Amino acid sequence: NRRYRKTIIAGNWKMNKTLSETKAFADELKPLIGKPKWCEVVLCVPSVNLQAAVRLFKESRVAIGAETCHYESNGAFTGEVSAEMLKEIGVKYVIIGHSERRQYYNETDFTVNKKVHAALEAGLYPIVCVGESLEQRELGVTMDLISYQVKAALAGVPADKMRHVVIAYEPIWAIGTGKTATAEQANEVCEAIRAVIRKLYGARVARSVTIQYGGSMNAKNAQELLAQPDVDGGLIGGASLKAPDFVQIINAAN
Ligand code: PGA
Repeated sequence: NRRYRKTIIAGNWKMNKTLSETKAFADELKPLIGKPKWCEVVLCVPSVNLQAAVRLFKESRVAIGAETCHYESNGAFTGEVSAEMLKEIGVKYVIIGHSERRQYYNETDFTVNKKVHAALEAGLYPIVCVGESLEQRELGVTMDLISYQVKAALAGVPADKMRHVVIAYEPIWAIGTGKTATAEQANEVCEAIRAVIRKLYGARVARSVTIQYGGSMNAKNAQELLAQPDVDGGLIGGASLKAPDFVQIINAAN
C-alpha cells in the first residue's frame, strides 16, 4: 500500500496549548523528529496559534493543519475562519467533521460536504472524519452509517480532487476514552471506506486515498494499528500533546 499512498500521522491538539506552550513543544519536537521516510507529519492546532505554528515548523517536515473552517470564503459569520484565510497563512490541512464538532457545533453531513468543497477550492487538504457511536456499533449499523457519511462528505467532489482528500475513521467510543478499536476493527472499517471510494471513483483513486484511524492511538498501540493494510496513518488527540509520545507514533509509521 505504501507504493500507492502516503502514510499521514496527524496530531489533533483540539483546544490545547497556548502560544508559549506551542513554542515549547516545537523546541522539544524538532530535534527528536527524524528524517522523512514514509510518512507525512501534520499538527492541527487552535486557529489562534496557526500562524505561529507555521513559522515554528517552517524548516521542518511538519505541516500545519487547522481543526475546522467555514464553508463560505468570507462574510457575516462572526467568529469563523475561512479556508482561504488558512491557505494564505501557510496552513496545508484542515480537519473537517470531527465528532466533537458534529456533537457540539451542529456540524452535519451537509455542512461537512460544503466545507470539503471549500477546503479543496482553497487548495487545502481536508481530513474528513467519520465514525460511529457505541450505540450504533452495538446496533450493527456501523458499516451502513460510515458508508453514508463518506458518500455525503464527498458528494460532488470530482475524482481529480480526491488525491487531496484524507479520510479519518474515528469511532466515537474510542475518542479520548483510552478504549482503542482493535487493529482488526480499525482495519475492517478502513477497508470498507476504501470499498465505498472504489465504488464512487474506481480502483485507482481508492488505492491512492489515505485513510487514517483515530481514537486513543498512542505510543503503545500505534505499531499494531499502523501495520494493518488499510490503515494509512493516524489522527491523534491526547498522545500528540507530548512530543516524545508523538515521535514514537511517527517512528512506528516509518
Ligand atoms: P484521542 O483523540 O487520540 O485523544 O482519542 C483523537 C481525535 O479525536 O482525533
